[in-house]
Amino acid sequence: MNDQYEIIDHEHDVVVVGAGGAGLRAVRGLADAGLKTACVTKVFPTRSHTVAAQGGIASALGNMGEDDWRWHAYDTIKGGDWLGDQDAIEHLTKEAIPSIVELEHDGVPFSRLEDGRIYQRPFGGMTTHYGQGQAERTCAAADRTGHALLHTLYQQSLKARAEFFVEYFAIDLLKTEDGQIRGVLAWDLQGGQLHRFRGHQVILATGGYGRAYFSCTSAHTCTGDGNGMAIRAGVPLQDPEFVQFHPTGIYGAGCLITEGARGEGGYLTNADDERFMERYAPNAKDLASRDVVSRAMTVEINEGRGVGEKADHIMLHLEHLGPEVLHERLPGITETAEIFSGVDATKEPIPVLPTVHYCMGGIPTNPFGEVVTKDGDDPDKIVPGLMAVGEAACVSVHGANRLGSNALLDLVVFGRAAAQRCTELVTPGARHNYDTSASEQKALERFDRLRFADGSTPTAELRDSLQNSMQTYAAVFRSTERLAKGVEKIDAELQSFNDVKVSDRSMTWNSDLVETMELENLLECAICTMHAANNRTETRGAHAHEEYPDRDDENWIKHTLTWYHGGTDVEIGYRPVHMNPMTDEMEHIPPKERVY
Ligand SMILES: Cc1cc2nc3c(=O)[nH]c(=O)nc-3n(C[C@H](O)[C@H](O)[C@H](O)COP(=O)(O)OP(=O)(O)OC[C@H]3O[C@@H](n4cnc5c(N)ncnc54)[C@H](O)[C@@H]3O)c2cc1C
Repeated sequence: MNDQYEIIDHEHDVVVVGAGGAGLRAVRGLADAGLKTACVTKVFPTRSHTVAAQGGIASALGNMGEDDWRWHAYDTIKGGDWLGDQDAIEHLTKEAIPSIVELEHDGVPFSRLEDGRIYQRPFGGMTTHYGQGQAERTCAAADRTGHALLHTLYQQSLKARAEFFVEYFAIDLLKTEDGQIRGVLAWDLQGGQLHRFRGHQVILATGGYGRAYFSCTSAHTCTGDGNGMAIRAGVPLQDPEFVQFHPTGIYGAGCLITEGARGEGGYLTNADDERFMERYAPNAKDLASRDVVSRAMTVEINEGRGVGEKADHIMLHLEHLGPEVLHERLPGITETAEIFSGVDATKEPIPVLPTVHYCMGGIPTNPFGEVVTKDGDDPDKIVPGLMAVGEAACVSVHGANRLGSNALLDLVVFGRAAAQRCTELVTPGARHNYDTSASEQKALERFDRLRFADGSTPTAELRDSLQNSMQTYAAVFRSTERLAKGVEKIDAELQSFNDVKVSDRSMTWNSDLVETMELENLLECAICTMHAANNRTETRGAHAHEEYPDRDDENWIKHTLTWYHGGTDVEIGYRPVHMNPMTDEMEHIPPKERVY
């Protein structure tokens, strides 16, 4: 090693990495239950990507008309194209109701009806009576739901006396020789020291890896760091081939226009001013699920009916809704449209394009947040000490395609479940007598190697190359030829990482090194995504394969697992999809054709 590092020690019952909605919901529950809890976060909690969530959070409260969590479960299973685990989906949709009531009591300022109950809006793929009617199920705080949620959870976590380590970058997990995860090594970006956080459980709540793509709605911080840490600790990623494109990213800028805009009555048109979604989804039209709308838009553009000089985008109309509705229900959107496309949404349509938005895949867990992996014949082997929640995790409730407003729900339901599980697993104040020195040494060597990396390719150049490869070869439509090329490209980019150049060697405020560590995490997520996509020879949810245009239930109702062993070595395995619900309160939903 080039440097000797002094390490500062901390001992907690539980260490949570990440302070987005998932991390904070877990932290709040843990601290409330009297567990000594550390929350390590690379950005200030209320700057986490959750703050940008606009449209809302689903829960079958039935405030606007009849609703039932079983219909919500059905929609989620169908939306995920039968790749979601039905036991986890039962838990998600049933627990949605008490979870929202809790948020309400915690102080989330939801939009209201005249009589004071929570307002709910329609969202894509959310129906009543098992697909018969359009549900109004999505609770919202205008179009700033994530902001409201995050601030409330942060305040509640402070009140419960959780300890926050803000602007600390988690580098790697600390693992015993026999595979227990018992802590994390982190770097204080401001103070410049390294810190060893010991915990009986470590909860990864580090969000998605949208930044592996060139055009995405995610924050610059969404670099899959937790996924990278899990991969390096020998844990596979589950279903990484499923990456969601949101239909309405602002053309050119990538910023999101919430699906709530279509929920409030917005619609899409092509160059002929045609409301083309009527052809693709005669019933749900503009509120079909996201994969369906994104594909329809891409087909319109590919067939020459795109809008603009280059015929390369689509128009989203909100102007007919009138300024009152826009100002009351979608104020942020109106502002975003003005800033990023110079359009006054009350008067003219907004130019939009499908944009990368959400990672359905992630670290595999059971419905209690515990990380599971396939080990020999056991498909559900628990990794002791490790949990994952939120977009970093794959429970899997979203299957092959997530429904809008189910992600925020996932954060709070499984954040809560993970905290609850920790209260069963951890004795407060128990001693930390784990030997994790070998993994720590490896983590230190990696940190040191990157800090002194002296190759010839600057981080930004390699990141550009990665983002372009993902955007080109793992897009809305995939093909055998493009995926094969994509695998070749990503493999080469991983090799080039050995030649990365870091110019700044300092231990404080070294964004060059932070971005390089983030890039390595992105590359590891990307290689799993590309190899898994290349491997899945069918079309399901967000994975649309031109040569295999049909869903193949006989061969492909199974979760992909990808282990990355370094170099270009990706190992692929499978876990069965849990097709049966958890209890008999809900019926098993057998696969059928997915039409909207
Ligand atoms: C623009 C936008 C709008 C959306 N709107 C909606 C919506 O209306 N409804 C809905 O249901 N879903 C929505 N989603 C999806 C949803 O918001 C996200 O999936 C969700 O917020 C992810 O939350 P999270 O807690 O898992 O991660 P994040 O909110 O991304 O938080 C990740 C946390 O991990 C920390 N972290 C990461 N790496 C490290 C590291 N190395 N060391 C230390 N800390 C680290 C970060 O500091 C951060 O605190 C939207 C997504 C986007 C991008």
